[in-house]
Amino acid sequence: MISESEKQELRSALEKERERLTRSLSGFATRDPKDPSNWNARYPEMTDEGTARLDVDENADEVEEYETLLETEETLEGRLKDVERALEKISANAYGQCERCGEDIPTERLHANPAARFDVKHSNRTR
Ligand SMILES: [Zn+2]
Repeated sequence: MISESEKQELRSALEKERERLTRSLSGFATRDPKDPSNWNARYPEMTDEGTARLDVDENADEVEEYETLLETEETLEGRLKDVERALEKISANAYGQCERCGEDIPTERLHANPAARFDVKHSNRTR
């Protein structure tokens, strides 16, 4: 069983990561108002901040840039979901257990990845 103080420590690590992920996502994506866990990458041309540096006459570059954004968005969004899920599990007192077999996830594993959802045995089948 994971100790209360360790849980607090991991919780604050998760909260920091959530903040960081949300901030990165906000830079180029918009949270779906109907589904807060879903983010949509903004098309580079449509960013009003003018942060996306593009050769506007090169349409192909823009499409490519957008595809990269979509990939990044998906990665960050997936990670954010895991982090939020882990935080929910802390609140629900279900933190630190493998979601497949219910066994305790080793603490070292949680320190390496506080959002881990499975123990080592079941980690390879997660995605
Ligand atoms: Zn397991």
